[in-house]
Amino acid sequence: MENHFAQDLNERLRELRGQRLHRELRRVDSPQTPQIKINGQTLLNFSSNDYLGLANDPAVKNAAIDAVQRFGAGAGASRLVCGSLAPFHELEENLARLKKTEAALTFSTGSAAALGTVTALLDKDDIVIIDKLVHASLVDAAKLSGAKLRVFAHNDLNDLEDKLKWAATKRSAGLKPRILIITESVFSMDGDLAPLKEIIELKDRFGAWLMLDEAHATGIFGKTGGGFADEIGASDRIEIQMGTLGKALGASGGYIAGSRSLIDFLVNRARSFVFSTAPVPASAAAAQAALEIVCSADGRLRRKSLWNHVSNLKTQLGLETVSSPIIPLIIGDETKALSTASALLDQGIFVPAIRFPTVSRGAARLRVTVTAAHTESDLATLVRSWQTTQPALCSR
Ligand SMILES: *Cc1c(COP(=O)(O)O)cnc(C)c1O
Repeated sequence: MENHFAQDLNERLRELRGQRLHRELRRVDSPQTPQIKINGQTLLNFSSNDYLGLANDPAVKNAAIDAVQRFGAGAGASRLVCGSLAPFHELEENLARLKKTEAALTFSTGSAAALGTVTALLDKDDIVIIDKLVHASLVDAAKLSGAKLRVFAHNDLNDLEDKLKWAATKRSAGLKPRILIITESVFSMDGDLAPLKEIIELKDRFGAWLMLDEAHATGIFGKTGGGFADEIGASDRIEIQMGTLGKALGASGGYIAGSRSLIDFLVNRARSFVFSTAPVPASAAAAQAALEIVCSADGRLRRKSLWNHVSNLKTQLGLETVSSPIIPLIIGDETKALSTASALLDQGIFVPAIRFPTVSRGAARLRVTVTAAHTESDLATLVRSWQTTQPALCSR
């Protein structure tokens, strides 16, 4: 039996290697800062989503340490079972303020927030319409909900409208499906933005609901870091806002923000919340300390430096459209993406090659993420090394 099992796995692993899609963990012996240590080598790190450099900020780290001292290392049980520790409540109140919503609820991860929320809201008689490029956790959530799933072409308003028209025919047939649109404000592997205003107008016109994933926008868009919906003044027109505490907020966990009744409903029905031990209080306290920085003058300075870096990299890499700190250098072929990443690694630069199934086959890329903690000289080193990996196309 064991042989059979090992044989099956090894066959599938061989297949992955053959397609150049096999992945391995790299052990890092340092914090996730602009410099990381791998295999004894110090590398310049352009892979982290810690956009504001908060994961290693002294105030954020001290908040986590303090929470361990006051509330312990673990949370004991699900918040509904053993009581709900104060750091979660403080964080949720402040998240709601940041998001300009009535209430918020935290989960152990952003993925858990997505899964718990969509499956709680929808059942098989409902309709869920997702952008082609939404995060895997949202695809899984949509499938698991059992609702009828439709996918619209990435950021394509005409296609979204077609899907909404189709959904409307179900309504006129006397059924009463809930219709939920799911998209992201900043797309995680392309770094581009959703046409949010137009999507909101469409969903209102068709009586649909919108769930917006702000995983890569919270903390870096909006005057006080509230996100992209906040930046365009649309927070009160979106039924469900979600995000993670693990990216710009430098900690770990996920959240949903929205009306009081949404949060009340999720506390009762979101299975990933109800049937899961609460996260460690230290992660909530760290996120809370990060959130305070995000809203402060220091946060504004960090955003300013981040967006300066984004604009400098855009110019220096000669790219036409860059809308966020996620800068995809599209290569296409998986093998070539790997060899380019490894050429950069040889020069002391860590940029991950992103391949299927994270992106489509043949759309492999280097995914550069820049943070406020980088220096101008870090950027210059990246640009120089990137240029050495590019064959001179138009040299003369
Ligand atoms: C990272 C990410 C998530 C998941 O958040 P975690 O806290 O890492 O589980 C969800 N959506 C998007 C778009 C993400 O990039």
